[in-house]
Parts: sequence; C-alpha cells; structure tokens
Amino acid sequence: MHELGIAQNILEIVQQSVPEEQAPLVKWIKMRVGPLSGIVADSLDFCFSVIIGDTKMSQARLAIEQAPIVSRCKSCMHEFKIEDLAFLCPVCKSANLELISGKELEIVEIELIDENDEAL
Ligand SMILES: [Zn+2]
Repeated sequence: MHELGIAQNILEIVQQSVPEEQAPLVKWIKMRVGPLSGIVADSLDFCFSVIIGDTKMSQARLAIEQAPIVSRCKSCMHEFKIEDLAFLCPVCKSANLELISGKELEIVEIELIDENDEAL
C-alpha cells in the first residue's frame, strides 16, 4: 500500500521536527494533499493512525486539507481551477496547460497541545 510508506515518511519528518520530550504533545499534523498526488486521504489517515500506535505521539492525528487543482493556460495565461479533470482552458479552449497546484503532498504545520490549555 502506497499510503503506508507515505505515512512512515510523515512520522519520520515529525519525529525530526519535534524534540523527543515534546512528542507526546503532538496533536495535529496539518497536511495539504493535491488530488493528483495519487494519495487517498482516508487511507493515509488510517495508515498513520496504525503506525503511531506504539510511538510517543500515539494521540497525534492528521488534518488533511485537499488542495485544488490549479492550472495556467500557456496560450492566454488564464489561471483557473480544474473541476472534473477537464484539462482545457475555459477561455480559449487550449489544452496547452501548466499545472500550478494539485500534486502537493506536504506538511503545513505541526500543532502541539498547549500545556496551559491542558491544565484547565
Ligand atoms: Zn487559454
């Protein structure tokens, strides 16, 4: 399963970014995933929740935001969101497009539990 490898990568990145003593405080890992990344968000979420089970950040969850597919027409420079995978410029009908967004698979932010909040 492709998503399992990605989930392991995410875990490694988070472990490298967050000091070990703060690992139990990791609450949300905010991700941006484009539809053209080939990643199924639910599947990634599931794989991640399985592999963190025996780590110090077992309470961490992924917050996956779907990035839009955005393209620029190379003929008329119009920028537009692609719906229903229709890869044609709505203005001039050219298929000569450049992909600006849609393949993202990135960690946007790692959010820790605020210890002051926890105390309340
Ligand atoms: Zn165009």
